[in-house]
Amino acid sequence: MRATVIHAPGDIRVEDAPEPKIVNPTDAIIRTVATCVCGSDLWPYRGLEPVGDPHPMGHEYVGIVEEVGSEVGNVKPGQFVVGSFATSDNTCANCQKGWQSSCLNREFMGTCQAEYVRIPNAHGTLVATDEHPSGDLVPSLLAVSDVMGTGWYAALAAEVKPGSTAVVVGDGAVGLCGVIAAKELGAERIIAMSRHESRQKLALEFGATDIVSERGEEGIARIKDLTGGIGADSVLECVGTSQSMSQALHSARPGGNVGFVGVPHEVAVDGQELFFSQVGLRGGPAPVRRYLPDLINRVLSGHINPGKVFDLTLPLEQVAEGYKAMDERRAIKALLKP
Ligand SMILES: [Zn+2]
Repeated sequence: MRATVIHAPGDIRVEDAPEPKIVNPTDAIIRTVATCVCGSDLWPYRGLEPVGDPHPMGHEYVGIVEEVGSEVGNVKPGQFVVGSFATSDNTCANCQKGWQSSCLNREFMGTCQAEYVRIPNAHGTLVATDEHPSGDLVPSLLAVSDVMGTGWYAALAAEVKPGSTAVVVGDGAVGLCGVIAAKELGAERIIAMSRHESRQKLALEFGATDIVSERGEEGIARIKDLTGGIGADSVLECVGTSQSMSQALHSARPGGNVGFVGVPHEVAVDGQELFFSQVGLRGGPAPVRRYLPDLINRVLSGHINPGKVFDLTLPLEQVAEGYKAMDERRAIKALLKP
């Protein structure tokens, strides 16, 4: 089969690789219908995270089940399935409490930019749709496997409630999905922080009521202006840099909450700053599995269309162009078709 391998920063290739096989009885093999490039894939691509030995890439996927292990009873060959970047047994103590992304048997996906993928913990990770979805729904279902699930978690972690004010820091695919989530959860005012016209447009389409293009002190001042001088009830941090975290902390009002889902890179939070901010903080890898049935329904019913974050579709063979376009911010997110 064909599979994506990163060799060094900036060096992404599609190569021949052996087709994956069932290793554990809880595994499934899927034929990838669509996969994509994640903002977090850009960290090693940009050399901001060590690459190490050449290795496969990709953790977002939807596909058709090819084969299941003897202990997989929830899905069967031929079904269309959606999963999550973090696999889970869906039965351990953490899973039972709804924190499947901290499953005691968790394995992170990392081989999905390929024609076939082995899904560990398939019995607790994969959710099948009743029928094969039409092609136009595939991008949104793919988004659910990571960016939409992550945006949803950011909004819940930031405790977005009906009538509340939410700020979304970050205009990548996760931030844009965070706008969708804030809207779905009933936020009355949704302020998207973005400097890019095409992303601002999509944020408005997804339900943002205000756009703030300033950053840093100016950005904080603009948020205060828009929120009666105190800051927002909820802030969704969807970047993972120290600037974005600081922006998020200072954009929430005392008593407000910050949900942080950008994978942190060199983020250090000052104790004094945190102490006097009086904000609640929760973040981490989203327990996407908890939200899958609900989010899949919202997509299939046409209620949400997070697939619009894919503004570039390429054959898997051109994966390198997908990384490049995202790195250069020519594309929000690249969908790959094996
Ligand atoms: Zn578990």
